[in-house]
Amino acid sequence: MSTNRTFTMIKPDAVANGHIGAIINDITTAGFKIIALKYTKLTAETAGQFYAVHKERPFYADLVSFMSSGPIVAAILEKDNAIEDFRKLIGATNPAEAAEGTIRQKYAKSIDANAVHGSDSDENAQIEGDFFFTAAERF
Ligand code: GDP
Ligand code: MG
Repeated sequence: MSTNRTFTMIKPDAVANGHIGAIINDITTAGFKIIALKYTKLTAETAGQFYAVHKERPFYADLVSFMSSGPIVAAILEKDNAIEDFRKLIGATNPAEAAEGTIRQKYAKSIDANAVHGSDSDENAQIEGDFFFTAAERF
């Protein structure tokens, strides 16, 4: 299991607000290498599958609806200590609590529409990357 990769999505709010370029710039400036990249859109069904771990949480239906509301950018990223460093780069789930200079503090407006996803473990990074990318789509 690789410990130097994470998976991210630029969520529908950040795409709609024109932040794709700025967010990718923040990510690469922070030292992450892009291994795979895709502009796509989740359906209610695929968003539900992706977030199945949150099925019992009260916001699950809202989350699935939001994540399938518009296009997203999915990516696999590589860097030493990728999971932890990327969570630090994006900031707290609630942008109101996210540290100054973090991606969520700069580009997100609410706890649900919070601009970016970042994997929380090596295992989930592997699962989430496999959800979007075949082996032939990774470089
Ligand atoms: P993350 O790992 O920081 O993205 O946060 P979680 O794994 O706890 O939650 C997954 C995603 O669900 C978050 O990024 C938000 O988009 C959404 N979410 C989390 N908490 C809430 C909430 O209280 N209400 C709503 N509507 N969405 C939430
Ligand atoms: Mg999470």
